[in-house]
Amino acid sequence: MKPKKLLILGAGAAGSIAANKIARELRGEIARDKLEITILDKNRINTNQAGFTFVPFGLYTEEDITRPRAKLISPRVKTVFGDDGEVTNIDLKNRNVTVKSKKEYSYDYLLIAMGCKPDITGIPGLADDFNSFYTSIDDAKKLGKLIDNFDKGHIVISTVKMPIPCPGAPSKFAVFLDDYLRYVRKVRDDIEITFLLPVPLIGPPQYNKQITKILEDKNIKIIREYKLSSVDADNKKLISADGSEIKYDLLITIPPHKSIKALIDSGITDKNGWIPTDKNTLQYKKSESESYDEVYVVGDSGPMEILKTGIGAHYQALIAAQNLINDITGNKTKVLYRGETGCPFVESSYTTATRGVGYLPTWTYDKPPGEFTPTKLGWFAYRMYYYIYWDTSIKALM
Ligand SMILES: Cc1cc2nc3c(=O)[nH]c(=O)nc-3n(C[C@H](O)[C@H](O)[C@H](O)COP(=O)(O)OP(=O)(O)OC[C@H]3O[C@@H](n4cnc5c(N)ncnc54)[C@H](O)[C@@H]3O)c2cc1C
Repeated sequence: MKPKKLLILGAGAAGSIAANKIARELRGEIARDKLEITILDKNRINTNQAGFTFVPFGLYTEEDITRPRAKLISPRVKTVFGDDGEVTNIDLKNRNVTVKSKKEYSYDYLLIAMGCKPDITGIPGLADDFNSFYTSIDDAKKLGKLIDNFDKGHIVISTVKMPIPCPGAPSKFAVFLDDYLRYVRKVRDDIEITFLLPVPLIGPPQYNKQITKILEDKNIKIIREYKLSSVDADNKKLISADGSEIKYDLLITIPPHKSIKALIDSGITDKNGWIPTDKNTLQYKKSESESYDEVYVVGDSGPMEILKTGIGAHYQALIAAQNLINDITGNKTKVLYRGETGCPFVESSYTTATRGVGYLPTWTYDKPPGEFTPTKLGWFAYRMYYYIYWDTSIKALM
């Protein structure tokens, strides 16, 4: 009998975790040629994007937040990285995936974990003055140089549109920026900082309440429900939908994000451009009549209703992996995703004048976080996590 084929698209956070858990738990089936797992990715390096927030301040280096994918995936999984792994089309009806080199892969079970990507084309002028820590290590390093050379004036941190991966990251960045300018570079008195937010709240209500107080104490002005309409890079001005203008000297942008082109081109996304997914079973579901139980979707590729965070991607990967294990072994049990997610909270980073204080609030769809007390240990755990991430989270050991 031919082995059952599980195909995983994307070897980032969620795809790697799922691949490693299934390979470990179904090692017997793989050894007896009853199961074949293949994972595809367009390149060979796994980047922990959450580390981008720290890079401009020299708190992590490229070496800290990247690893060769080959070192992260179980040897029981077939890995295909590069042009043979770059997905260009997914045909759900015929259970077939095509890649850039035109090779095709058939499957019995599919896990889509292709993340999402920044899109700076939608706002006129945005690309003319684009500085960001959200888009790549190189961009984060470039921004670090700009911050190092900025002595006085107005810095605007602009989140253009939701959803973005980790909606709490811009506020963490704002805390790091304030600490860096105030205690490391000692130029904060000559710098004004404005934080633009397209929605009313930074995360769930309690998270919003606590981070708002911290940003206000740091003299960071928050403008909520700000709708950016264009950027006038020549005159260093932001123009909002109601025509009002904000002058800046340094613009730091968290750009809009959208689905991966291959997913949109395959016609499998919803009206918002994301993959329609049952928010509990994580199975593909466009409508009652158009659903594919053998297809699971995890991480940032998922729909608007599922928050895009690395922590959520981790939980979803473990849950989808367990359901795939159940499906493959014929166990009819389903494990449900209840919206488990979270977002590290930073009250202060560690400088000569501040202790470094943090916390990890977590929540689910129907249970938002209550009041929490950030601690020194929370900051330590947050910093340490980036080092153990590769050998614990990604290897699906926790
Ligand atoms: C600046 C920043 C800060 C963040 N901070 C935090 C934080 O503090 N806490 C937190 O929980 N989350 C944070 N996040 C969010 C977190 O990084 C993401 O939610 C998480 O990486 C999503 O995992 P994923 O597996 O869905 O996507 P990814 O990790 O992006 O993996 C997707 C994979 O798909 C591959 N791929 C894409 N297109 C193709 C294709 N056509 N063919 C084949 N492969 C393809 C990519 O190469 C990639 O390896 C942050 C994100 C950013 C950008």
